[in-house]
Amino acid sequence: MVGHVDGNVLAGPLSELFQFDVTTASARCVSCGDVATLACAMVYVEPASLIVRCRNCDDVLMVIVQEPDLTCIELRGMAWLQVPR
Ligand SMILES: [Zn+2]
Repeated sequence: MVGHVDGNVLAGPLSELFQFDVTTASARCVSCGDVATLACAMVYVEPASLIVRCRNCDDVLMVIVQEPDLTCIELRGMAWLQVPR
């Protein structure tokens, strides 16, 4: 391994990732291995957050917290997120 660069190198790949309808992306649940588009997930709407749960096992896939000055996305319930090109 040669070393590392800073996170600015992510600007290109991540801007590609979030320029489309994210609900068409497929995710794999860490808990049960189910693969489905985000549109198929179960979403619980709280006053300041969206809790996204697996359609198969009900474990949390993702939490989106919306504050007036920022949005925070926690993705630890997904093994991966696959984006169609
Ligand atoms: Zn699951």
